[in-house]
Amino acid sequence: MSSLTEIIIFYKYTRIADPAAFVTWQRNTCEELGLLGRILIAAEGINGTLEGSVEVIAEYEARMHARPEFAGLWFKSSPGTGEAFKKLVVKLRSEIVATGLLKDQDIDPNVITGKHIDAAELKQWIANGEDFEIIDMRNDYEYAVGHFAGSKNSTMGNFRDLPTIAAKFEGLKKKKVLTVCTYGVRCEKASGFLKQEGFEDVYQLNGGIGTYMKQFPGEDFLGSLYVFDGRMTEQFTTKYMVIGECTSCSSKTERFGNCAWNDCHKQLLICFNCAKHSKGIWCTDDCMVGAASGVPVR
Ligand SMILES: [Zn+2]
Ligand SMILES: [Zn+2]
Repeated sequence: MSSLTEIIIFYKYTRIADPAAFVTWQRNTCEELGLLGRILIAAEGINGTLEGSVEVIAEYEARMHARPEFAGLWFKSSPGTGEAFKKLVVKLRSEIVATGLLKDQDIDPNVITGKHIDAAELKQWIANGEDFEIIDMRNDYEYAVGHFAGSKNSTMGNFRDLPTIAAKFEGLKKKKVLTVCTYGVRCEKASGFLKQEGFEDVYQLNGGIGTYMKQFPGEDFLGSLYVFDGRMTEQFTTKYMVIGECTSCSSKTERFGNCAWNDCHKQLLICFNCAKHSKGIWCTDDCMVGAASGVPVR
């Protein structure tokens, strides 16, 4: 790959008539252009991240924009590393983000979703001391390495835990709440789900945390942005404070490893020193006991 690469992240909830045929079109297009990354396609839409040279990405965007259903598609762009992805994966799924919602609970974001506000509007809310709560819809390990100051951790281990959050934030039903996630896709259903569960004043951050960080680097969002590719985290400034803490020794770190217990392998923050000097780090006492006995505790 050329040295000047770009990473794009994009999604759209839109009815796709023939998802299987669209998977083939996507795969052929990406292979022809030599793009690497991950694209999920369902009857409800598309969710993707790709890396390629700046020229090739531009060509891909043009081909997507030429399709009527994706004419205005917003590609969020970041500088690439040339090694964000090892391969191309294009998959057909039942959802473009797995939610854990039952069929009769499922959300169509084109029908019910939180009101979108842009990064600049959130900046105003914060500056004006507006009365609202930020609910972070990402996973626990993503929150651990970076989050908005004062935001609520939904403590999900996986987005499939979405059905559990209504009870968790029951007390905020009458408050103004803003959901946030990496680049916006998870909030489309998460904010709609809160509305469906009776939350009265629900907003979502358009373009997600990454867009906010790009516009206001080093402000309001503490730490770094977890991303699901070879970069692990994304940052838009060198002037920021590391807030992630090593699971073992609590020193500041943004380095991720996996729980050493075979039945867990959960992602956790682990500093270089602890990773180097220990045979493994366990995310809970249960995992440590399990690893010692060889028998799963759960
Ligand atoms: Zn450590
Ligand atoms: Zn574990």
